[in-house]
Amino acid sequence: MDSLFQDEELGPAPKKDSRPPSEVRSVLVPYPVDKAYDYGVPEGMDVQDGDYVCVPLGGREVPAVVWGQGAGDVKPEKLKYIIDRYDAAPMRKVHRDFISWAARYCAAPIGSVLKMALSVPAGLEPPAPARGFQLADGVSDARLEKAKLSVQRRAVMDVMADGQIRRASEIAEVAGCSASVVKGLSDKGFLKQVDIFNPVPCKTPNYKHGAVDLSEDQQDVAERLCEQIGDGGYYCNLLDGVTGAGKTEVYFEAIAKALEQGKQILLLLPEIALSNAFLQRFNDRFGCYPALWHSGLTAAQRRLTWRGVAQGTSRVVVGARSALFLPYQKLGLIIVDEEHDPAYKQEDGVRYHARDMAVVRAHLGQFPIVLVSATPSLETMQNVWDGKYEHLILPARFGGAQMPEIDLVDLREDKPDSGNFIAPSLKKAMMDTLQRGEQALMFLNRRGYAPLTLCRSCGHRMECPRCTAWLVEHKTARGAHLQCHHCGFGVSVPKQCPSCSDEGSLVPCGPGVERIEEEVRQSFPDARVMVLASDTTDSQDELRTLLERIRRKEVDIIIGTQIVAKGHHFPDLTLVGVIDADLGLQGGELRASERVYQLLHQVAGRAGRAEKPGHVYLQTYMPQHRIMQALAAAGRDAFLQAEAAEREAAHMPPFARLAGIIVTGRDEAQALGVAKALARVAPQEANVQTFGPAPAPMARLRGRYRFRLLVRAEKTINLQKTVLDWVNSIKVPSTVRVIIDIDPQSFM
Ligand code: ADP
Ligand code: ZN
Repeated sequence: MDSLFQDEELGPAPKKDSRPPSEVRSVLVPYPVDKAYDYGVPEGMDVQDGDYVCVPLGGREVPAVVWGQGAGDVKPEKLKYIIDRYDAAPMRKVHRDFISWAARYCAAPIGSVLKMALSVPAGLEPPAPARGFQLADGVSDARLEKAKLSVQRRAVMDVMADGQIRRASEIAEVAGCSASVVKGLSDKGFLKQVDIFNPVPCKTPNYKHGAVDLSEDQQDVAERLCEQIGDGGYYCNLLDGVTGAGKTEVYFEAIAKALEQGKQILLLLPEIALSNAFLQRFNDRFGCYPALWHSGLTAAQRRLTWRGVAQGTSRVVVGARSALFLPYQKLGLIIVDEEHDPAYKQEDGVRYHARDMAVVRAHLGQFPIVLVSATPSLETMQNVWDGKYEHLILPARFGGAQMPEIDLVDLREDKPDSGNFIAPSLKKAMMDTLQRGEQALMFLNRRGYAPLTLCRSCGHRMECPRCTAWLVEHKTARGAHLQCHHCGFGVSVPKQCPSCSDEGSLVPCGPGVERIEEEVRQSFPDARVMVLASDTTDSQDELRTLLERIRRKEVDIIIGTQIVAKGHHFPDLTLVGVIDADLGLQGGELRASERVYQLLHQVAGRAGRAEKPGHVYLQTYMPQHRIMQALAAAGRDAFLQAEAAEREAAHMPPFARLAGIIVTGRDEAQALGVAKALARVAPQEANVQTFGPAPAPMARLRGRYRFRLLVRAEKTINLQKTVLDWVNSIKVPSTVRVIIDIDPQSFM
């Protein structure tokens, strides 16, 4: 793992400082290394633990963090020196401890975890001001008159007459000329140059702005949270309440309290929930927008947020999971909204669960954390039942709005017409909804037109040549197209079956959202229809625009994947139809039932959020299934208890611990060889069991063969140490990768 550092040992000699160092410090670099390494501090440089510095590494100069006292294990003649110290507030000790802790917990190289905290090295430099222009002093109409300016120059001066500061490009665009005209006017003294500093995001939220009157239940919960924040200690809470109960409103109160106390606040959301509507709501409450952190930001935006957070000037960060690793100065509250969401688990690089790591961060920092959900994960519920987390409950929807009525549509009785997928009873409900001028959502968590293309003559299924996956048909302007949802491989639908060569024998099987759209348009030719899936839009902005159109009621029927299920509030949406409520139950994965329950509950929660009552239809072939019964009878806790009992009987999390080991390689025999070698030396401790190797359910991915082993241990075992000792005990060729996944969520 420290090969990088070895490269560096062999790399070109760095600039040598001839004087002996006054001291030696250990410095951690943001590369996959297992520990911090010694560097000399040149005389005259003053560094403290946590300082951001620049050090030589493998012939390059890289940003790094002073981690502690040097170990003194590098010979003086081999020692390299810190090159420079950045002008930035040092990383706090609690954050360095968090990085060390996360690395140990995830069995990941500590340098890789630091990389997540130091993901925007440009943020270390104070931002350079941009150049702006303003009307120069003493420029009078008379002087302009006398100067006989060209038409273009005149146009620029007209734009600038209001005295505002603008960038050259902005002026040029408005005045309809090139930027050089602006420059010329500045040279002639008609305009002057001024610096424009980018504003620090979320520097001045006002906790008193836009406060609302809470209901009695909401008030009780908010007071409890505010008490904890005033207390200055660690508390972990589950804020539990149906969608529309006012959970957001309540945690805004907690944020207000933490702001009043001068703290920084982190609000984690599944990326998809970062909608305009939410940000607007934040702005209404606090009088400014939060600092944002998600994958859709530009480099410049990232840099601003990173620097604002690291300096302690940005007060509230709203972000996706990696926002947890930003180097806060005075973090004093974390909220994890939709805590059950699988998107909190990072599935590549450092495999961490942001919710779990957030609890650790709060514990290290000794401040409160609030996990928020209408459908808490079993892990979190178990912690509540064990008395480890406080359970704060909002029992009902705010303002007396009713929970939607949920009906099961038994597809064995209430059959869709041949070639269709919507049952007659649901179609009737759609018709009634449209007649009332309300909106309907048809939910199907499947992109594309059809999930499988099959040969009618020989039964051949169209599969991806690089992955263990069927190709999904998509309708495009150029005709039907087959696509792999795992690696992006694509081909047109062939005229002949590749197996039996029959002409025109390939047929699409099963529905995706595009096929539901076809059916809806046929049945409701006058309705305004929108399909919403992650591949419908190219950008977050476009997605936000589409969601906004739904809110403004420019659409009657929405057909969507889980992208519409989360967090959105559409006041006129009163009917939700779930096309295939059984989807996801077949795989038999550990959390399959839990996930389906959460997703369906969440989708159902989109119906009737405002005054108008909502109605949900779940199409299923298994109306007797525990999940369908729990949903229809609103028996969430009974469902979770039954799940818990099953997991306990099977010795599965949260009653035991798991680690997944994934061995991958382009050469199948070689990868299998490594997996088998691992199995031969599997840990022999009591209370630890190892299963496998077996081909992964996704046995091939992007051309790599994949084998899985699974370790199950009692909770008393140090799972990470057991697994690392084991995996490090065998030699792995460089063409094979061994990935460790502590607390795996996916078993694919
Ligand atoms: P949740 O987060 O539990 O789904 P929200 O906080 O989004 O619920 O509240 C649902 C709706 O009810 C929102 O439109 C919100 O503005 C409104 N609401 C909730 N509590 C209040 C309150 N105390 N005063 C005014 N409106 C409220
Ligand atoms: Zn593929």
